[in-house]
Amino acid sequence: MEQIIQNLKQQARESWSGRTGEERAENLEKYLRNKLEEYSKALGISQEEILKSWEEDRNYSTINYYQECNQPSIKSDKTKVFETVEDMLKSIGKRGFRCPSCGGISSSPYECNSGLEMAKGKTCDWKVYGLFGDLGKGVFVYCKDKLKGETIFMPIAWENNEVEVEPEPEPSFS
Ligand SMILES: [Zn+2]
Repeated sequence: MEQIIQNLKQQARESWSGRTGEERAENLEKYLRNKLEEYSKALGISQEEILKSWEEDRNYSTINYYQECNQPSIKSDKTKVFETVEDMLKSIGKRGFRCPSCGGISSSPYECNSGLEMAKGKTCDWKVYGLFGDLGKGVFVYCKDKLKGETIFMPIAWENNEVEVEPEPEPSFS
């Protein structure tokens, strides 16, 4: 694992010259160690396995891949962890996903196919992996059997229990 981290730091260092490259390398190491510790504790999976799974998944530059949007907090209320992909699919069911842009129901968790017209002649084709992502309305799912996490549109089945609302304060008549 140390070897992988050193290699990644080297890539970060080479992404920019001089002091900036060195800062990038240091920031990357800090980021990786924090994330690995958090994920490992929360998932009960070794840091090395998690790092290797990220490296397998990574198909673009180190600096761009190791970012909060790709490794969000695993303990937040915007995250759901499943033992298996099957468990996740069972939980999602067949009701589809809420598109963050048009608010319609999409059968794809990544690309809206609700068929809703956003402007004349233009139907919604919002993509969760596009520039503006899930507009903060999606959910990050992690499946432990695949060691894989990704952001998807919010499944309709999770809409009412996903975001926990603070309880209303009890009315007081004093
Ligand atoms: Zn849409």
